[in-house]
Amino acid sequence: MDILPDRWLDLPAFIWGKLTNYLTVHLELLLSGALAYLLLATVIALAIDCYALGYERSALRRLLRPSRSARTDWVLYLLSATRLMQLISIVLSAGLLYFMPKIQANYAAFDFRIQFDSPVVQFFFFLILDDFLQYWRHRLGHRISWWWQVHKMHHSATEFNVITVARSHPLDLALGSLFVYFPLSLVGMDIETLILIKVLISIQGKLQHSMVDWNWGWIGKYVLISPIGHRIHHSCEEPHWDKNFGHITPLWDRMFGTWYDGELVNETVDVTGNYMNKKGVVHDVLKAQLKFGQFMFLKKWSLRFGVVTDKRQKPS
Ligand SMILES: [Zn+2]
Ligand SMILES: [Zn+2]
Repeated sequence: MDILPDRWLDLPAFIWGKLTNYLTVHLELLLSGALAYLLLATVIALAIDCYALGYERSALRRLLRPSRSARTDWVLYLLSATRLMQLISIVLSAGLLYFMPKIQANYAAFDFRIQFDSPVVQFFFFLILDDFLQYWRHRLGHRISWWWQVHKMHHSATEFNVITVARSHPLDLALGSLFVYFPLSLVGMDIETLILIKVLISIQGKLQHSMVDWNWGWIGKYVLISPIGHRIHHSCEEPHWDKNFGHITPLWDRMFGTWYDGELVNETVDVTGNYMNKKGVVHDVLKAQLKFGQFMFLKKWSLRFGVVTDKRQKPS
């Protein structure tokens, strides 16, 4: 196995080799068109936000004079844009993200690939399957006690500024990748399709984390989750608890009974029991990691601790 050093004495050189190799590969990705497009998507989303809200209320203004919450968003956004986040995810998931492709290679022999003749049908099949898995990934992230401890970082934002989309705990990202991309790769989704999906939905994801007052009419109700549609998911208002888990389309929320169809719209975002944004991002990441460990190994696993119970304990 090439994943282990021959001799323990070689360990520092081995780790350094892996690290430099990782950085080289990811630097190439960083300079590739896909990532440039993702950065362009941020600029476009910021411009739309500024147009819709005016400069005074815009995300751009909040990013230029960042609050404590926005400072965390900045750090996590830059780590994710430079792909360094993946490196941190590998460390905080105890190598899970690193070993995944190797396990995957072993299973490739079983050939679970699903192939359609038309590349368009093939693409939409993966797009829908990806979104379906994202829905359940997100719902479990709220329902499983230990997963919620790290997913809570995404909900600890006290304001939206477009780049809040990248505000995720590295371990939440690693668990999400395992849940979504591992099965997708087994049925034959390649990295190019994954990048294309990410690029296509990047502006939508960013606008979903803005204060733009758009619900997109019937499109927002049935086709694509609008900015208001996702803002509801970040709400402290009781009727909004555990609603709108969807990523791209509201279809899954409608199908599985978690879509909020009411008229109430929250003007703020937050989560109760929010201990983050006070002592810096490193503190918040490590504290969430510690809480994850407590809930994973020391407490009884619970499927009910999600947002609902959290808020019932400490009503706002
Ligand atoms: Zn959530
Ligand atoms: Zn969100």
